[in-house]
Amino acid sequence: MTEHRAATRVLVLNSGSSSLKYQLLDMRDAGRLAVGLVERIGEQTSRLRHTCVATGGTRELNGPMADHDAALKAVAGELARDGLGLDSPELAAIGHRVVHGGMFFTEPTVVDDAVLTEIERLIPVAPLHNPANLTGLRTAMALRPDLPQVAVFDTAFHTTMPESAARYAIDTKIADRHRVRRYGFHGTSHAYVSRETARLLGKAPDEVNVIVLHLGNGASASAVRGGRCVDTSMGLTPLEGLVMGTRSGDLDPAVIFHLQRVGGMSTDEIDTLLNKRSGLFGLCGDNDMREIRRRIDEGDEAAQLAFDIYIHRLKKYIGAYYAVLGSVDAVAFTAGVGENAAPVREAALAGLEGLGLAVDPARNAVRGDGARIISPRDARVAVAVVPTDEELEIATQTFALVGKDD
Ligand code: AMP
Repeated sequence: MTEHRAATRVLVLNSGSSSLKYQLLDMRDAGRLAVGLVERIGEQTSRLRHTCVATGGTRELNGPMADHDAALKAVAGELARDGLGLDSPELAAIGHRVVHGGMFFTEPTVVDDAVLTEIERLIPVAPLHNPANLTGLRTAMALRPDLPQVAVFDTAFHTTMPESAARYAIDTKIADRHRVRRYGFHGTSHAYVSRETARLLGKAPDEVNVIVLHLGNGASASAVRGGRCVDTSMGLTPLEGLVMGTRSGDLDPAVIFHLQRVGGMSTDEIDTLLNKRSGLFGLCGDNDMREIRRRIDEGDEAAQLAFDIYIHRLKKYIGAYYAVLGSVDAVAFTAGVGENAAPVREAALAGLEGLGLAVDPARNAVRGDGARIISPRDARVAVAVVPTDEELEIATQTFALVGKDD
């Protein structure tokens, strides 16, 4: 009798304009089989770094990869060398991160030509991300046309926001004509972390209200009531909301007119200023929180002010989402800064004891990989550190859509 293997593997692809990140997972135990990254696609100095988890071996491939097709073929070659080839019957699907799904895509979606067309129609609201995501989708579909390809959208988790939170207070007709509204991003992370927070509390997701603080180089907050997002800090684009590594977050829109009229700056220059040269970087010249903390310890005033502005904005959002939710069961910190920077967590909640929010200094100082509670034992609201895992969430959503035990 021949052994019959079910298709339980999912390849997760995250295509950037010149990069391709990937992970191969086995959904029987959600374990990683391989992880890797191709950088500088389209240049002479492209590089593929591939790790086979079982052996722990890492290989590097250097040399020009002209486009995403060449990059994915190189990835397929490396996977095949580890016996994990894309032609394996154990591969159930490819799950793709797609940044913008507009209002149309509220769920992970099996991709066909109509879906590709709709993702393409959303390019005007996601000019940086959707073209790269589309390239990744088309390349993978050409390589394995017979395999389900699933798009998992960064915006989907936020499509449950009520109109009162999703609309800007501008002329409705103009807003609708140009699809101007608040979409929110990092949704895969907010979905995963809010669910994991409920699990940490020993509750079902629909039993808890959670404020999720995704603090990475990009940063966003969300208010999640009973498992459904009711507000989030990013808007039409990822520029709105919290102070980030290089993005300003909220500001008076008239700053833009002022910089145009008085500063003589072009639209593109202001776009670059607000997205790439603002936030922590614009304030003190560093966007890495480790470096900022080191400078603060040496008495650097610019770094201290950047930190204070970052924390002030964060605290405002915690207060705002507390009010939006009415009652809060947990505040969850995640992503690079949220998972690692104890001083950020402590400062963000300092003085909020009246709201039942506090951080236990000893618990906050403990370093660890897993989800953990850092509030005092008798706290009214749990404060948690919950490591995010967007690849696992994409794989889980993809497999839930296509995986069948046969
Ligand atoms: P992410 O975008 O989630 O990968 O987060 C990246 C950011 O996390 C970096 O820019 C750092 O500012 C921050 N980060 C990573 N490790 C630490 C750490 N140990 N302490 C403080 N910040 C950290």
